[in-house]
Amino acid sequence: MPKIIPFVHTLSGAEEDAWIAAIEALTPGIALRPLAQLSDTERTAARVAIVANPDPADLSSLPGLVWAQSLWAGVEKLAPHMPAHVAIVRMTDPQLAATMAEAVLAWTLYLHRDMPLYARQQRERLWRQHEAVRAEDRTVAILGLGLMGETSARRLCANGFNVLGWSRSPKTVEGIATFHGAEGLTAVLAQADILVLLLPLTEATRGLIGAEALARMKPGARLINFGRGALIDDAALLARLDEGLVDHAVLDVFATEPLPPDSSYWAHTHVTVLPHISAPTNVASAAQIVADNLRAYFQDGIMPRAVDRRAGY
Ligand code: NAP
Repeated sequence: MPKIIPFVHTLSGAEEDAWIAAIEALTPGIALRPLAQLSDTERTAARVAIVANPDPADLSSLPGLVWAQSLWAGVEKLAPHMPAHVAIVRMTDPQLAATMAEAVLAWTLYLHRDMPLYARQQRERLWRQHEAVRAEDRTVAILGLGLMGETSARRLCANGFNVLGWSRSPKTVEGIATFHGAEGLTAVLAQADILVLLLPLTEATRGLIGAEALARMKPGARLINFGRGALIDDAALLARLDEGLVDHAVLDVFATEPLPPDSSYWAHTHVTVLPHISAPTNVASAAQIVADNLRAYFQDGIMPRAVDRRAGY
């Protein structure tokens, strides 16, 4: 008899099928079952669940749960609904980080080489050349030096940018000047030509990029948000964009997604709106991470590293 693992999600049927096929192909002896297909005995016996945007009521029907593997990297929506005794294991996929680093490089180059400016000039049939800045003379600061931030920082370094990084605890990353804490943030904001947000959304980071932080940035600085929408105070950013003090913002994540049709971001000539595409999950590589975690637990009794519930990430 295979070991039954509940799959608790609100995905489409096609997504459910794809995840089950990919994970089961890598985990002989384990069967993933949508919650509705589990008997009461199977629910009670479950120690591990795979979750993706689960309905909180569904989670409470698994009283013996020890840990839950999320299919997503961010856990801000999941953590408030997960009973405190259940460990949350988030998706930490090097492939996802590589995809994110590619996006950070692509959109940094977009801003670095003034593509929004030249696109606006073309619409006005305006032939005007602007001074080109060398990559080493462009300071790119990354807020969040986790799997996503550090991988992205290395990629930017390899492309010649002057890279700064900021995290909660002190960190050393070769080739990058690193900062932490409130004073570190002030120093980083004051130097950044391009600010990249790769922080998780927690109580400490919600609204971090508000009027005060934006006022500490260089006039004409540029912003990329690939973390979470609510890291930014939208009204404060829009005010700053309207004043020309933030030159351009590339936004991939928003407090409300999909971005509502009446959002001022859509038509703003100094904003690039992306529909949460900077680092899409790759089912094959993510399934391998899940399979490795399940194997380590069931074969070797090793719990994968869990989210720090107090820190919120
Ligand atoms: P991670 O490995 O947990 O790293 C988080 C980083 O943020 C760490 O460096 C951490 O500092 C820092 N941090 C957290 N709270 C902080 C605070 N209050 N002050 C300063 N630094 C703080 O997370 P990750 O895998 O890199 O992912 C980061 C976030 O990216 C995710 O939470 C998710 O929201 C987002 N994401 C977005 C997409 C997308 O498609 N747009 C895809 C994947 C992930 P320490 O190093 O000191 O712990």
